[in-house]
Amino acid sequence: TSESDLEKEIFSVQLKERQEKLKASNNVKAMQSFREKLPAFKMKAEFLKAVAENQVLVVSGETGCGKTTQLPQFILEEEISCLRGADCNIICTQPRRISAISVAARISSERGENLGETVGYQIRLESKGTVQTRLLFCTTGVLLRRLVEDPDLNCVSHLLVDEIHERGMNEDFLLIILRDLLPRRPDLRVILMSATINADLFSKYFGNAPTIHIPGLTFPVVDLFLEDVLEKTRYKIKSESDSFQVNSRRRRSREQDSKKDHLTALYEGVDVDSNYKNYSTTTRASLEAWSGALLDLGLVESTIEYICRHEGDGAILVFLTGWNDISKLLDRIKVNKFLGDPSKFLALPLHGSMPTVNQREIFDRPPPNKRKIVLATNIAESSITIDDVVYVVDCGKAKETSYDALNKLACLLPSWISKASAHQRRGRAGRVQPGVCYKLYPRIIHDAMLQYQLPEILRTPLQELCLHIKSLQLGAVGSFLAKALQPPDSLAVQNAIELLKTIGALDDMEELTPLGHHLCTLPLDPNIGKMLLMGAIFQCLNPALTIAAALAHRNPFVLPINMTEEVDAAKRSFAGDSCSDHIALLKAFEGYKDAKRNRRERDFCWENFLSPITLQMMEDMRNQFLDLLSDIGFVDKSKGPSAYNQYSHDLEMVCAVLCAGLYPNVVQCKRRGKRAVFYTKEVGQVTIHPSSVNAGKFTFPLPYMVYSEMVKTNNIFVYDSTNISEYALLLFGGSLTPSKTGEGIEMLGGYLHFSASKSVVELIRKLRGQLDKLLNK
Ligand code: ADP
Ligand code: MG
Repeated sequence: TSESDLEKEIFSVQLKERQEKLKASNNVKAMQSFREKLPAFKMKAEFLKAVAENQVLVVSGETGCGKTTQLPQFILEEEISCLRGADCNIICTQPRRISAISVAARISSERGENLGETVGYQIRLESKGTVQTRLLFCTTGVLLRRLVEDPDLNCVSHLLVDEIHERGMNEDFLLIILRDLLPRRPDLRVILMSATINADLFSKYFGNAPTIHIPGLTFPVVDLFLEDVLEKTRYKIKSESDSFQVNSRRRRSREQDSKKDHLTALYEGVDVDSNYKNYSTTTRASLEAWSGALLDLGLVESTIEYICRHEGDGAILVFLTGWNDISKLLDRIKVNKFLGDPSKFLALPLHGSMPTVNQREIFDRPPPNKRKIVLATNIAESSITIDDVVYVVDCGKAKETSYDALNKLACLLPSWISKASAHQRRGRAGRVQPGVCYKLYPRIIHDAMLQYQLPEILRTPLQELCLHIKSLQLGAVGSFLAKALQPPDSLAVQNAIELLKTIGALDDMEELTPLGHHLCTLPLDPNIGKMLLMGAIFQCLNPALTIAAALAHRNPFVLPINMTEEVDAAKRSFAGDSCSDHIALLKAFEGYKDAKRNRRERDFCWENFLSPITLQMMEDMRNQFLDLLSDIGFVDKSKGPSAYNQYSHDLEMVCAVLCAGLYPNVVQCKRRGKRAVFYTKEVGQVTIHPSSVNAGKFTFPLPYMVYSEMVKTNNIFVYDSTNISEYALLLFGGSLTPSKTGEGIEMLGGYLHFSASKSVVELIRKLRGQLDKLLNK
């Protein structure tokens, strides 16, 4: 050991010498003077002292004050300067991939190094770093997976958990683990970083851990509410039909009206005339027509145009609800007579799942006389800071998931943001000079907003989390989750456990089965993981890899404005007569691979409304999945791909494998008159989403459908679906129970009934027994 101690000592000295040499370079000096202007810099000594003296420290500060880029860097520089470089291993978690990469790149350039030297990053599928790396940015998910091998985080000296105020599920989960871990690792330093809101909550959770607040250096921001914006822009909100709707193909139903959120309902009770008597008649009429349930892109466009015509220089940051509005608004801007002039305006999208290549443009100052307009989702709220923003346009909404535990249903609806979020968004305008925030909602809506958003752990299905808790051997799921900052509903936990039992990941004692262990090692939703295993077992590995990649990442089909019919036609031609969105995905990907061999994938994507970036990502993910399957012994790579693809072109077999993966997501297809109608066990009648190749069909060859996603938006929609036979269900679906009448078998707790003779039932049981052995090997 003394030899390795010596090596470490030498390495520490080398790190220090190198750091000092780099500091002297002109580039780094220029960066240093930028860094010294950040509010975090003034707190450096106090921060380092607090880190040295406390096991847990909470740091809060306005977004942009330098928490993410400076605090980990202070620790790094200090450790290296004090010749502890060899022993320090700093990890900083980020909720999103895009911020992990951009922050690591930023710090490397501040240090005058290449990315991946002292500072690196690791996200799913991608990492940059070496054994030399001392500061690693990773997604919270990556750290949670690391805990499987290193439950005490023995290889970590300092752990910074960033953006905890967002209350993401992974972060809340990590906090429970850390609190239990601290007594076992007295030398570990944990630093929790949060925006200004809510810091107390975290301090309390960790036994009143000390808090440091970094005072912000922001300029005043003027707030304009909808009434003021309408007055300035003279925009007339017309009838609802002119506005953008969540799903424009469906007319607003009465049922939907009744589900309006409380804020909109509240607004409808307001007497516009007396409340807004100081405003012009057009404004009052517009306010009356305004409906909070909708996002009026015309209004957003007019507001941007108003700023460009009447306000001074400075970038505009627009907060929208998702990719859909961003791309629609981009399309509108392109054809806008004034804003569409590319010599004067630079309109850029900013979205969490965007490729990282275009990022520089977002941070860079545009050339003089050219205005930057960034159209973003809430990713720009706190994790990414664009310095030159002077104007914020806030639609006041974000797409929010919620979970209806009673109906086991995920919901995704644009809903009002919290006051805390509104404050964050507003703050983005005052970074370099006084700014203006254009809020596209009335003042009374703001006053009625919730203080904080509900944490994600209370808004999502919990099966992946439960599986993770089991794989980390953290005990009974219910009692573990009871230790959370805000514990989830017991019904939600129960649903998750039940699902894991149904797919065979947990046994009756709620312990992991061998299949459950395999599923834990796949960083995927357990259903998708099971599909992969079945693909390997039943020799349709390629299709399983492709479909799993699409489901785990995103659908490669894009939806350009006003092109829905053309996109539908492209999907249908890929699907052929399969009645399956998943087969359409598969064929699209195979077509892309063929086109790529002939170097015409660009054209292919363009002609078929496919995103080349998503397809490329899917290719990478397929390779990663293949590696994982080989790690757990389901694939022997030395045998070559042909050994696992004997049935890859047999679509019935592929659909059976899909059924095995997607069960219990089953829909019954029934006839009502000439139409096909669809039912599920939990919620009764559901609708096939209009974007599906199965939408609008009158008959189906087979009686069931499996689906990958069911979401309640303005209706209960089944997204991608595949028509399957009862044999697929009987052989590959969840556990069977003898029918109560004695004849045949039942599934889904009696919801599905199949008549079959005793000998057939017996045969099915035997086949399933063999399959169970293969899955649990
Ligand atoms: P916080 O985490 O407190 O919100 P950051 O450490 O992310 O703040 O950012 C501090 C400052 O560094 C920001 O004001 C921003 O201008 C600058 N910055 C951060 N990332 C980049 C980048 N990738 N390119 C240019 N500037 C950046
Ligand atoms: Mg930050």
